[in-house]
Amino acid sequence: MTSTTRSKQPTSRGEDGSRHFAGDSLRPAQPPEITPLDEQQRDRIHRLLRRRRPACPSCGNRRRWTVGDALPLGFLFLDEEEDAYMVALTCGRRGCPRPRTGIVVREEDFLSA
Ligand SMILES: [Zn+2]
Repeated sequence: MTSTTRSKQPTSRGEDGSRHFAGDSLRPAQPPEITPLDEQQRDRIHRLLRRRRPACPSCGNRRRWTVGDALPLGFLFLDEEEDAYMVALTCGRRGCPRPRTGIVVREEDFLSA
């Protein structure tokens, strides 16, 4: 008897969940969030690295990099372009004293198709 009314309850619970999501997407300015890159985006960053050939500040390596996640910079620093991202790089040279660095890229460098 009560089980009939109870079977409708999951619907209202679902509405609760979707309300949460709607509120998230309605927020005008999203806080800076780490953006994980998929394989294709990492590939584009690798291509960019081959073009720019940045040097590791610690050991001078220019060839071997591991591409990490991206962090939007436009929200954090006024002097950066709004679509600027810092992409984490890890130096691939063995024994590098400080392998963790990053490169500033534009959104179009890796996010657009
Ligand atoms: Zn290095």
